[in-house]
Amino acid sequence: MRAAIYTYLMSLRRESETLADARFFALCVSHRATDVKSPIGSTLGLAPEQLSALLTRYFPELMDARTATQCMKVRLHTAVGGIFLCQCHGGDGEARLRSEENSDLQKLLLDHRAGLSAAEEWSAAIIATACFGDDHLWQDLGLTEREDLSAVIKRHFPLLHLKNSGNMKWKKFLYKQLCDQAAIRLCQAPNCSVCDDYARCFGPENASGWNLLSAHG
Ligand code: SF4
Repeated sequence: MRAAIYTYLMSLRRESETLADARFFALCVSHRATDVKSPIGSTLGLAPEQLSALLTRYFPELMDARTATQCMKVRLHTAVGGIFLCQCHGGDGEARLRSEENSDLQKLLLDHRAGLSAAEEWSAAIIATACFGDDHLWQDLGLTEREDLSAVIKRHFPLLHLKNSGNMKWKKFLYKQLCDQAAIRLCQAPNCSVCDDYARCFGPENASGWNLLSAHG
């Protein structure tokens, strides 16, 4: 179903907008479209007006013929011929995780933004919220591989991408920036090169068998 929703979204994309951004947002939205209990904006980390602006900009036809109270997940599932028994009571809900940690992560990203597009703000909110997931960050976002995430960060937060010259795992890297900014020593070693946890921070960020769209399609 996720694959069908992704394909549907991409079929509606505004062609004048960047293909890579449309693909990123379509993957993130389709990934969150099967959460039964939470509104899609909430699970993405976007306020209702942010989600509406994002979808209007990248997938304008999706917003047509939809009432403000209709659940976006129901709309998406219905559009691809599915039945979705949602329990989120409609609407797009308030973004959850309005925590200090989420705000700090968003600020970190936006402090390094390219300053070219509103897509940076939406991407920062979505990436910061996905940091609360349990898997690699690219998996928590619903992307197909780590390079998808690296490309988004390079495009929208280029200075942050440059800082990660050691190719540290992205979630680890973002949190390490917060710790460094706050001068908090969560790391056990004086520097990475002598740290016993080196493999946890810098090891391969792949996942054998991970193929989100086909696995959950
Ligand atoms: S490798 Fe060790 S010192 Fe470096 S960020 Fe990871 S935990 Fe901290």
